[in-house]
Amino acid sequence: MIKKTSLLFTMLVVCSISMLAQDKDATIEAIIQEANKNSQLEILGHQLMDGIGPRLVGTPQMKNAHDWAIAKYKSWGIPARNEQWGEWKGWERGITHIDMVHPRVQSLRGTQLAWSPSTPKKGVTAELVVLPTVADSLEFANWLPNVKGKLVMISMPQPTGRPDYNWEEFATEKSFEKMKKERDAQNDAWRENMQNTGLNRRTLPVALEDAGAVGIVASYWSRGFGVNKIFGAYTKEIPTVDLELEDYGMLYRLVASGQKPELHIVAKSKELGKVPTFNTIAEIKGSEKPDEYVILSAHFDSWDGGTGATDNGTGTLVMMEAMRILKKAYPNPKRTILVGHWGSEEQGLNGSRAFVEDHPEIVAGVQAVFNQDNGTGRVVRISGGGFLNSYDYLGKWLHEVPREITDEIETTFPGTPARGGSDYASFQAAGAPAFSLSSLSWSYWNYTWHTNRDTYDKIIFDDVKNNAILTAILAYMASEHPEKTSREKAVLPISSRTGEQLEWPTPRSPERDGGQN
Ligand SMILES: [Zn+2]
Repeated sequence: MIKKTSLLFTMLVVCSISMLAQDKDATIEAIIQEANKNSQLEILGHQLMDGIGPRLVGTPQMKNAHDWAIAKYKSWGIPARNEQWGEWKGWERGITHIDMVHPRVQSLRGTQLAWSPSTPKKGVTAELVVLPTVADSLEFANWLPNVKGKLVMISMPQPTGRPDYNWEEFATEKSFEKMKKERDAQNDAWRENMQNTGLNRRTLPVALEDAGAVGIVASYWSRGFGVNKIFGAYTKEIPTVDLELEDYGMLYRLVASGQKPELHIVAKSKELGKVPTFNTIAEIKGSEKPDEYVILSAHFDSWDGGTGATDNGTGTLVMMEAMRILKKAYPNPKRTILVGHWGSEEQGLNGSRAFVEDHPEIVAGVQAVFNQDNGTGRVVRISGGGFLNSYDYLGKWLHEVPREITDEIETTFPGTPARGGSDYASFQAAGAPAFSLSSLSWSYWNYTWHTNRDTYDKIIFDDVKNNAILTAILAYMASEHPEKTSREKAVLPISSRTGEQLEWPTPRSPERDGGQN
């Protein structure tokens, strides 16, 4: 009798283990099938990047994107909502046209910076001037009246429009070394002169505006062919535009040789007062532990020089596609699977910081957060984020992902928590196990990050699909995991810089009333 019972018991255990294994395999199989056979990535990418466009905080396009995401989730049967967390200065980009009209006519490649004030309807036509070399702030102040009625060039002209990798390939070692030396000297002299003016990147445009300049012309080269970084304007009444390296260099040389070049700039934009800012949240409710959460995380906003394709259109696509796949392949998760499409990450993780601050009960119930935000590449690095026991669960989950996806992934356990960089830092600061799914670069830092070339054509859809499958399987494994994940923090290393023991970051409040200068 005893023997029989134990045999029966053994059989039941074996049976249920193998059924569980089979179920798991079946769900993972279904995830992979859905991702490969019915991918929505290209259509989502087209609608978001080409149709809606860039998603600068405070713009109507940002709101359009939030509403589009809600409609998508509803069409997939996933409840979704926009949660307001603050307000921002409302602004809408209009047409930018920049032409040289003297000493000859040439249309130039450039654009107004985010939040740039508008030119008058017919634009502004004026001569260009460059900054003088000064000994001190007094000399600069004495020069300032010269900018009245002028357009002022405020960036250093680059000595070469070829990126270093191109020099490395073709230059003689001697000429490459010479160029770098001269460039370093030019950079140092420019920096020193800027210090002498007593002003900086932020205050200089304002001082020029106050002295009667009619526009600011900058050029923030991103050290690649055709790429400039496009950030925000600091002027309040006059336009600030960025010109591509080639045009900026030409104009600078024309000013230096006494040709008195003139530009005609039309840079239209609209100020829209204060507008609300949102996070888009969608959820598949947990059937057994609805108060525990697996969070898929990617910021939704972008800068607006391009269309925010790799920062963070691709992270957005990964999380949306993973949610769509999970809803089909795993419709009744054990824990709640929640996706957060955060607003205003670019101005300081504002959306995710607000979510963490506003939803302590969700943060307390976090099983795991998976964030992706460094480009279109397949995931190649995952860190345990400083959670001492993260290997025990994350390692186990990763083991269930097909080898062809995990083969290239380098893991670090326990790792250290982030101090910023992207939204997982907001959760780590609150002690919630949050992990960055970190991508292969695909020349992200120079070519697409915050540049005028961050567009649909840079997306590598095979890699994005790979990441959607990885994310969906990790979410499934985290949801099914028998226990709640450990939050025990590792003892952090001693900083080689300060010689002091690193401390765990603490939660920071978001900027909830932004862009008010
Ligand atoms: Zn980003």
